[in-house]
Amino acid sequence: MEQKKRIAFNTLGCKLNFSETDAISRQFGTGSYAIVPFKESADIYVINSCTVTKNAEKRCKTLIRQAMKNNPEAHVAVIGCYSQINPEELMDVPGVSMVLGNSEKFNLFDHLQEAGQNRSDKDAKQPAGENLDTFVPSFSTGGRTRSFFKIQDGCDYKCAYCTIPLARGKSRSNTIAETIKTARNIADTGMKEVVLTGVNIGDFGKLHGESFANLLRELVRINGIERIRMSSVEPDLLTDEIIQLVADDEKLMPHFHIPLQSGSDTVLKEMGRRYTKNVFSNRIKKIRELVPHACIAADLIVGYPGETEAEFNESYQFIKKQDISYIHVFTYSKRANTRALQSGQMVHPSERKRRSKQMQLLSAKKKKQFLLSNRGLETNVLWERDAHDGFMFGFTENYIKVKTVYDAARVNTTQAVRLNKLDAHNVYLI
Ligand code: SF4
Repeated sequence: MEQKKRIAFNTLGCKLNFSETDAISRQFGTGSYAIVPFKESADIYVINSCTVTKNAEKRCKTLIRQAMKNNPEAHVAVIGCYSQINPEELMDVPGVSMVLGNSEKFNLFDHLQEAGQNRSDKDAKQPAGENLDTFVPSFSTGGRTRSFFKIQDGCDYKCAYCTIPLARGKSRSNTIAETIKTARNIADTGMKEVVLTGVNIGDFGKLHGESFANLLRELVRINGIERIRMSSVEPDLLTDEIIQLVADDEKLMPHFHIPLQSGSDTVLKEMGRRYTKNVFSNRIKKIRELVPHACIAADLIVGYPGETEAEFNESYQFIKKQDISYIHVFTYSKRANTRALQSGQMVHPSERKRRSKQMQLLSAKKKKQFLLSNRGLETNVLWERDAHDGFMFGFTENYIKVKTVYDAARVNTTQAVRLNKLDAHNVYLI
């Protein structure tokens, strides 16, 4: 009986990457391959990479070294955004035998079939001029209850600090009809919640003259999908219509993730963002008016080139006034081929660190306020599979983490609960 090839996957970066790795790995679930954990010895290691920050690239190289340590004879295939942006650099990393960008990664199975058994047969595949015009749908199953559902890819915005348009190409998606077909496949797996993901999901449907709002209208009609959660939507694309849909339909989760990036209009202008801070605060007010208990998360970059102390304080004071639930704080990271490198004086790394710390403290305070303001809330929790120390976990509709004593019968079921006891880890105990 022919020995199965052991293949291991690892993913860096965003929900979009996780949904794609999961879809790609499902091609290896049967036949001559056996999927094994990344920390084990395997014949082939696949890393779905990220290039949003320098750190993400460093982590990729660490994983390559780990794979080589596990099995020096293995094939190491690095796929995705880092591969798309800088294939030569990756090909020079000891151990790497295959580099596939954001288009060819979906043909990984064929490329590996072609490639020989041992490293010596490496064929040094490189994504020379991969076109990024096609949209390849994907969704994760990963044994979870929530599926990361890729509905859009690429971006037409040109934010000064961002390499994603270079890595993922133009904004594109399938039609609503095709997207609904994929969503029905997710419903058939029994998963109850989908997390709509992409690069700029608010831009869904642009090439087909369709809208994100109309996609939401169709998604809520699918039996089997009980909860639809949106990942980040740009402030200028988060329309009153979308917020009203969330207010009106219980399947659309009261959870908004809005990339703000700075609370200073001069910095927003430098970044090439498409809104002012007033547009952002107007969105927050609209959400609080129509969906009072909503969870609102905001992304923020600190230490952007040229960001003065005064602009940072302006940003801090602006965010302090916003009725948001917490902030994802990112420290500016230099990226090649971006306008930001010419934007202005680099903020010293120690000062970037100080600003990041200050914003994280503000975020922690806002998170606590948000959690306490929901004490006594009657809501529904979707219980997840994983167990820790005899407890199982889940999230409310407005994305509050809860735990209860583990009960296998509850996995992937929703339960009506009342939030009362908040533990020291900001988790409500049921
Ligand atoms: S909207 Fe801006 S930050 Fe977001 S992916 Fe597009 S270019 Fe990058």
